[in-house]
Amino acid sequence: MTAKTLSNYIDGEWRAAGAQETMPVTNPATGEVLAQVPLSTAADVGLAASAAQAAFDGWRRTPATARIQFLFKLKRLLEENTEELARTITLENGKTLEEARGELARAVENVEVACGIPMLMQGDYSEDIARGIDEYMIRQPVGVCATIAPFNFPGMIAFWYLPYALACGNTFIMKPAERCPMTMQRVFELLHQLGLPKGVVNLVNGGPVAVDAILDHPLVRAVTFVGSTAVARHVYSRAAVNGKRVQAQGGAKNPVVVLPDADLEMTTRIVADAAFGNAGQRCLAASLAITVGAVHSQFVEAIADAATNRVVGYGMDAGVEMGPVITAQSKTRIQGLMRQGTAEGARLLVDGSVAAVEGYAQGSFMRPSVMDGLSPDGEIARAEIFGPVLGLIHVESVDAALDFINSGKYGNMACLFTASGASARKFRVEAQTGNIGINIGVAAPMAFFPFSGWKDSFFGDMHGQGKHAVEFFTQTKVVVERWPQEWTRKF
Ligand code: NAD
Repeated sequence: MTAKTLSNYIDGEWRAAGAQETMPVTNPATGEVLAQVPLSTAADVGLAASAAQAAFDGWRRTPATARIQFLFKLKRLLEENTEELARTITLENGKTLEEARGELARAVENVEVACGIPMLMQGDYSEDIARGIDEYMIRQPVGVCATIAPFNFPGMIAFWYLPYALACGNTFIMKPAERCPMTMQRVFELLHQLGLPKGVVNLVNGGPVAVDAILDHPLVRAVTFVGSTAVARHVYSRAAVNGKRVQAQGGAKNPVVVLPDADLEMTTRIVADAAFGNAGQRCLAASLAITVGAVHSQFVEAIADAATNRVVGYGMDAGVEMGPVITAQSKTRIQGLMRQGTAEGARLLVDGSVAAVEGYAQGSFMRPSVMDGLSPDGEIARAEIFGPVLGLIHVESVDAALDFINSGKYGNMACLFTASGASARKFRVEAQTGNIGINIGVAAPMAFFPFSGWKDSFFGDMHGQGKHAVEFFTQTKVVVERWPQEWTRKF
């Protein structure tokens, strides 16, 4: 049976992309081709942008209180369809069903927060800034906004932006990752049920060609991107040259620091989840564990155990704790980085680079790996691996750990495991990353906080989620106003 070709959703209806070229969407656990995704062209993007522009005026003049009624309904639909959406995520991405449910919960939280828009987008008013003159600031939507997403959270990442963009009165174009586009098909079926005015939300499938068309299209006023640093940099600069508002979240190399006073049992469990959850394909994955002082040998033993005992398999199957990586190419890339690590002097404590899961011969499975004694100057201690590989580095002080962290090019997250408030405070103050975890392994901000990221992990000013999203998806207008007394009409 030939796999179905996915459609775009433009101007309130499903439409075949004009693109001739398609790409298979493959289940990373079974190798089964699930669908064909069209690689939309600039013309397809143009149709979405025109539809979104045509819808903009009507949508922005719809009161915020009315706009959020659609979001309340969306929250209910997402919750009613969580199980089916989660299965779609697992099918196309490989993560476990439990992980897929978790990401959808994060999506719903953002819808909930955006429902507060009537208050969140209120302006400011100052009376008598000079005698008889008042001044006020109002927030208005920006126009057509677009989001470009990565493969690793096919359900959640759109929701860092979509609910806020809509609630603020913008119209929206979604471009999902071409490797995992099926979840957004289902989300857009739910969006269709909301009865939004035509053109308010649009879906364009595709790859780099569609992305560049979004970045170049004059009707698109704002772009949000999540993906690798190289592409984030490209998106940021090209959108900016074209005069657009843009934020671009990039890659990461997240360290967790373990102090001798940390609770070893809890720390090991949390670090293992942070390193191997989602098969390490998380922008907040713990990729490096830096042990300080005497804790090294105990931690090494405990984390090696946790890595060895993790249950790897098909994410749909009960009891599985880690699914495959996204593609065979990705597995090869990760294996290459591991070889480079050993060439740089690291010791492969647990080697999960070659793994087979019974019954799934076509799956791109790996098992968790742990590499000890990474050279601090080597590539493997600095590069994003984006796979289930934890590197270990040993230092003698918190200062040395902070120096190492702050010398890295990424700044997404750093975590500390300790029982000392003073150490925690020092770490929070001095670590140069946008997200910090204290006795937490994946410090993912809730929807009412910005998903921060610094250095090469983020290009822009305002981040996704919460008040930052409201800032990003609105432009301010300041009015200075005088009504002279003598103009008062007498009735
Ligand atoms: P990717 O950069 O390959 O792709 C992301 C998006 O960019 C996709 O929609 C893709 O179609 C598009 N794209 C790819 N190459 C392009 C090009 N040359 N020109 C224009 N567009 C292009 O990222 P990925 O492999 O899908 O996702 C993994 C990466 O995303 C990791 O680096 C991870 O750290 C990062 N990520 C970051 C965050 C964050 O919040 N900082 C969150 C999730 C993932």
